Amino acid sequence: MAPQSYQAPTQGDLEQNSTVSQSAESNLSSGSTTVAELLEKKGNLVFSVTAEDTIADVVVTLRDKRIGALLVVDENSNLEGILSERDIVRKLAETPGQTLPQKVSDLMTKDVVTCSPNDLLVGVLKKMTDGRFRHMPVVDNGKLCGMVTIGDVVGYRINELEYEALRMKQLIVG
Ligand code: AMP
Repeated sequence: MAPQSYQAPTQGDLEQNSTVSQSAESNLSSGSTTVAELLEKKGNLVFSVTAEDTIADVVVTLRDKRIGALLVVDENSNLEGILSERDIVRKLAETPGQTLPQKVSDLMTKDVVTCSPNDLLVGVLKKMTDGRFRHMPVVDNGKLCGMVTIGDVVGYRINELEYEALRMKQLIVG
């Protein structure tokens, strides 16, 4: 038997619930979040270097900006590659004591997987997981407009889940 405080939903209640599930507010929590929405909160700042810079320059920037990867751009800000701390660690093991003077172009990954502001975060996360990388530059009409990291996506999702939990609590407690 249902507890006394419990009231079975009526037809009207069910209709009301389905309206709520279609609202913009609840859509935020349903896996429909886009890269653009994340960037609205995070901003469009992108840290970059040129292919001619040295690894000595890169490690200073990675430390100062507290980030794990830099985009490599040409003089017109076109994306040429990406260089992450993983690339540097790999090179340190291959060329001990000789890595810092090397050029970014020698270490960077040239085939960069990018996403667009309209992409769903769920899809971006899948691409990152499948490709085993943690950074995804955002490109809109050929122009760099941000960077999404796996930490951003996970952090955003945790916020969504906390919000969902709060909403459910409010619905239950009233
Ligand atoms: P990460 O996990 O992002 O530190 O990078 C791991 C490896 O993947 C490194 O060799 C990076 O150069 C490379 N990488 C990182 N992000 C991307 C990306 N969006 N597309 C292609 N390669 C990437």
